[in-house]
Amino acid sequence: MSWFVKKRQQKIAVEERTVRVPEGLWIKCEACKELIYRAELQNTHNVCPKCGYHFRIGVEERLTSLMDEGYTTLFSDLQSTDPLHFVAMKAYKDQLKKLHDAGQDQDAVVVVEGTLGGHPVVLSVMNFDFLAASMGSVVGEKLKLGAERALATKSAYLIVSCSGGARMQEGTLSLMQMAKVSAALAKLDKAGIPYFSILTDPTTGGVSASFAMLGDLNVAEPKALIGFAGPRVIEQTIKQSLPEGFQRAEFLQAHGMVDKVVSRDQLKDFLKACLAWMMPERV
Ligand SMILES: [Zn+2]
Repeated sequence: MSWFVKKRQQKIAVEERTVRVPEGLWIKCEACKELIYRAELQNTHNVCPKCGYHFRIGVEERLTSLMDEGYTTLFSDLQSTDPLHFVAMKAYKDQLKKLHDAGQDQDAVVVVEGTLGGHPVVLSVMNFDFLAASMGSVVGEKLKLGAERALATKSAYLIVSCSGGARMQEGTLSLMQMAKVSAALAKLDKAGIPYFSILTDPTTGGVSASFAMLGDLNVAEPKALIGFAGPRVIEQTIKQSLPEGFQRAEFLQAHGMVDKVVSRDQLKDFLKACLAWMMPERV
C-alpha cells in the first residue's frame, strides 16, 4: 500500500511542476524535446537553436522572411463556391464560412508581387492553417494566375508549398488543378522565366505530384516530409519496409528529387544568389 501512496505523491509533484511553466512563454521542441524560450525562437526564424528543427510557420512570417518591404497581395478576392455541395462530417460550405469568419479569407494560398533581394518576383505561399493547405479550385486558380502575372511582368515565380494534397471536398475539380498549374508553369519555361519550388513540411499528395516538383530549382527545408502517399500505404502496397529517412528532404536530395536542402535562415540569401545568376538583367 505504501508503494502506491509514494507513486501518487510523485505524480502530483510532477503535475505541480508542469503547471508552474508559464503558458506561451516556453515551447517544447518536437524533435529534441528541449524547452525553448519563445522569444528566442522568434530571432531564429522559428528554428530550434538546440537541434535545428524547423517549426512550421504561418504565411505572414514566410512572406516577411523572403520578400523585401512593400509587396502587394494579388487575387485576394477569389472564393470557393462549393461546386459539389459537398457534405461529409461537416458541410464544406460551413467549413469555408467558419474559416472566413476567423479572418482566413484567402483560401489556402496567398500570392504577392514585389522584390526579393532587389529581384522582381511573384511569390505564392500555401497556408497550412486553411484545410491543411489542400488544393482546390481557388488554390489552383491563384497559382495559375500568379504564373501568368510572372510571365506578363517577366518576374521570377516562386511557390512555397506545404499541403495535405488535393481537396477532397472539390473532388475531381481539385485534381484538374494539377494539370492547370503545370500548364501555366510550362509557359514560363518556354519564355525562359525561372520558377523556383520551395518545399516545406509537409508537401504531399497532388501538390508533390505536380507543381512542387516542377521547379527549375527544387529547394526543400531541412527534414521536411515530402512524398505522394504516406509511408504505411507504400509499405502495404510493395510489401517491403522503407529505408530510414524515406520521404524526408535529405533523402530526396541524396536521390536526386530535390536540388538542395536549405535552412530557413539562409533561404533568402540562397534564392537571391540563384536569381542573380539566372536573371542577371533583372536586378
Ligand atoms: Zn530541438
